[in-house]
Amino acid sequence: MSKNEDVKNGVIFSLGEKNEAYQKYFKGQSWLNSLVSDPALPVGVGNVTFEPGCRNNWHKHNGGFQILMATGGEGWYQEEGSPARKMLPGDVVVVHDGVKHWHGATKDSWFSHIAITAGTAEWLEPVDDEYYAGLE
Ligand code: MN
Repeated sequence: MSKNEDVKNGVIFSLGEKNEAYQKYFKGQSWLNSLVSDPALPVGVGNVTFEPGCRNNWHKHNGGFQILMATGGEGWYQEEGSPARKMLPGDVVVVHDGVKHWHGATKDSWFSHIAITAGTAEWLEPVDDEYYAGLE
């Protein structure tokens, strides 16, 4: 039994659809509920839900930024050159322009966060499996 199973029923916002468009940049299953996608605005807002063990590849948001707001379960955020940081509901992370990072669930917990994103994503290599498995 994974931790925080209730997160898969949606926390505040519903799960949305399976995140097919970005699946190739993720390991494991995620879901995306697009909350704001307005061509008149320079940012998008989405609720992303990760199954246990799911995380995205290393990536950058070029010419923009990202704000992550944890809403449920337990997750990780890591910037290149820094230790992974545990994310719990209420935690907020600001990702500046061009900073290489990844985010996702812990290995044994569901996780959800709101992502406010601007700029162009540049997708890079997967997070090392052994490193991820060793995160506590
Ligand atoms: Mn990101």
